Amino acid sequence: MDPLTFIAIFFCGVFLTAAMIFVPLIVGLFRWREVPGSDLLQNKKVFTDHDLLRALRIFESEWDTFFGYSREVHSATWSVKIRWVEDKHFQVPNHPDVYATGWVKDPSCIWVATRPDEDGHAQLHRTAFFHELVHIALYAEYGTFDADHEGNAEVAWQQAHHELVRVCKKRHASGDTALI
Ligand SMILES: [Zn+2]
Repeated sequence: MDPLTFIAIFFCGVFLTAAMIFVPLIVGLFRWREVPGSDLLQNKKVFTDHDLLRALRIFESEWDTFFGYSREVHSATWSVKIRWVEDKHFQVPNHPDVYATGWVKDPSCIWVATRPDEDGHAQLHRTAFFHELVHIALYAEYGTFDADHEGNAEVAWQQAHHELVRVCKKRHASGDTALI
């Protein structure tokens, strides 16, 4: 092997090794910025990491119990981005007459009103968070948000999904930390 070829191969090796180390690092940094619970527009945390982590773990464990394990649902649950709206409800974008406590913007983003009480204190289990997660999970599993819920237009949302939301809220409200 002539020296030039050796040098070229050597630097290719160095470059590839550096890329293997730094590319995942940089991608990881960007993913970190999108960690569930970060308010997308205000770039701040509304609920604590602990509260959010508990909520996500409760949701995925209850989903598994109700409907069986789904890799798609777990993946969608943990990658969802949240826009917390610190109010009782909000006007749904592009629908001037529609107010909601929760809204699915797209398959990986939900808006949730924090519904603070009179002294400004908000509790995650009082919000529509688990309800909106069901929409995200249904899309991941069946390709539909089923905005019609239990109506006839779509069949993905069943009575059991309402029950799932109820159980998740109850477990979260009880301070359940068994899964963390
Ligand atoms: Zn809904």
